[in-house]
Amino acid sequence: MKYCPQCGRDLKPAEIDGRTRLGCSSETCDYVFWDNPTPVVAALVEREGIVVLVRNKEWPQKIYGLVTGFLEKDETPESGILREVKEELGLNGQIDDFIGCYSFFEMNQLILAYHVQLKGEIVLGEELAEFKMVPPEKLRPWAFGTGYAVKDWLEKRKTRLAED
Ligand SMILES: [Zn+2]
Repeated sequence: MKYCPQCGRDLKPAEIDGRTRLGCSSETCDYVFWDNPTPVVAALVEREGIVVLVRNKEWPQKIYGLVTGFLEKDETPESGILREVKEELGLNGQIDDFIGCYSFFEMNQLILAYHVQLKGEIVLGEELAEFKMVPPEKLRPWAFGTGYAVKDWLEKRKTRLAED
């Protein structure tokens, strides 16, 4: 961000509340660009015991991930992730569990990850290029973003299977 959304003057780096932030250069305006992380909802989708990974049209070939999306106004994380699952996979999912929240500093996001169960035939939404089905035993977490939710889910699953 370059200009103040309140008065249109330049934003300049300044020491504000203990760190360098962009603040309005006008003496009469106290706007600060806090750059707070954006919440993102993510779903580890399981369909009849198999994990569904998706590839967004804008992602490189071979890169698959979880279903993710931004929340809309007045939407809870739970209804937001079920809406995203419906949009991207064409099915009504059911939340099984909250996996956890994960800071994704590179993207300035806070990821809220859920385990979602699905039944039925997947119909890909407009944003997606492909999906693939991966048995949990073959699922390998990636070392960024939603990958940590995958790792935690796999570990929890392993513990649960060992207890049964
Ligand atoms: Zn201003």
